[in-house]
Amino acid sequence: MRLVIMGPPGAGKGTQAAVIASMLGVPHISTGDIFRANVSQGTPLGVEARKYMDAGEYVPDGVTNAMVRDRLTHDDCRPGFLLDGYPRTVEQVGELNAMLSSAAQHLDGVLELTVDLDEVVARLVRRASEQGRSDDTEDVIRRRLEVYFEQTAPLIEMYRSQGLLVQVDGLGEIADVTGRIVSAFAIED
Ligand code: AMP
Repeated sequence: MRLVIMGPPGAGKGTQAAVIASMLGVPHISTGDIFRANVSQGTPLGVEARKYMDAGEYVPDGVTNAMVRDRLTHDDCRPGFLLDGYPRTVEQVGELNAMLSSAAQHLDGVLELTVDLDEVVARLVRRASEQGRSDDTEDVIRRRLEVYFEQTAPLIEMYRSQGLLVQVDGLGEIADVTGRIVSAFAIED
C-alpha cells in the first residue's frame, strides 16, 4: 500500500498515520518529523529548514523533494509507505509522481482527515503548551493554516479528480477516527 495522509495542521495526521502504518506494516514517513529531527540534531538541513518552520512557511520544494526522494529509496519502503505531510504543493505532487513512475509504482490512495477549523486551532494551542513546539505560537499557527489553505488544500481536488481521494471525519476520539479509516480502506487489523 502506498498512501498519503492529508489534512490541515492539527487534524491528527501524525497520530493516525503512526497507527495505520503499523497496521499496514509500512513505514510512517512524516516530513515534519524528519525536519524536526534534523533541527534538534543541528544538521545543515535542520538549520535551513528551521528558518521556514519557525515562521509557519513551507521549506522550499527543492530541499523537501530531495529529502523524500532519498527516503523512499530505503529498503523499508519496498512493501509501501504512508506519507504524512508530503506532498504539500503542486510541485511536490509532480515530483512524487515522477519518483513513483520511475520505479513503476503508483499511489493507492489519498486519505483526507476532515476537521472543523475551530477545533483544529484549539488542538494546536493545546499541543503548543503540551509539547512546546516552536512553530506552535498563535501567530505561527495562523500562518500555517493560511499556507495550508493556499498551497495544499487545492491538492485535494487534484487527487479527487484522479479517483484517489478518501475522506474521513477526523473529529472525535483517536480510536474512533482510526476505526473510520480502517473501514474506509478495508484494512485488516
Ligand atoms: P508538520 O509536522 O507536517 O506540520 O510539518 C511542520 C513544518 O515542517 C511545516 O510547517 C513546514 O515548515 C515543514 N514541512 C513539513 N513537510 C513539508 C513539505 N512537504 N513541504 C514543505 N515544508 C514542509
